[in-house]
Amino acid sequence: MKAERNIAGLSCSQVLASLTEYLDGELAPDARAALEAHVSACEHCARFGGVFAAAVRGLRERLGAATLATDVGARLKTQLDARLARADGTS
Ligand SMILES: [Zn+2]
Repeated sequence: MKAERNIAGLSCSQVLASLTEYLDGELAPDARAALEAHVSACEHCARFGGVFAAAVRGLRERLGAATLATDVGARLKTQLDARLARADGTS
């Protein structure tokens, strides 16, 4: 099967190999940006079967909703800070 594409400096197999690291937040920011750019543009990755397709679909949905991992992190930190502030205030 010769459906490999090279988008944003990554081949499909490189994207799939890095996907779990991406989902775990372990990729460097530039590697993450390249992976996001590839998945945004690559139909092959979107159609790839099995677990990877589900993961990629989830990633595409997040990108489509313009909620990047950094936004999620910021929201979590805000909630944590609020919780910590409440805990401090009542003591
Ligand atoms: Zn691809």
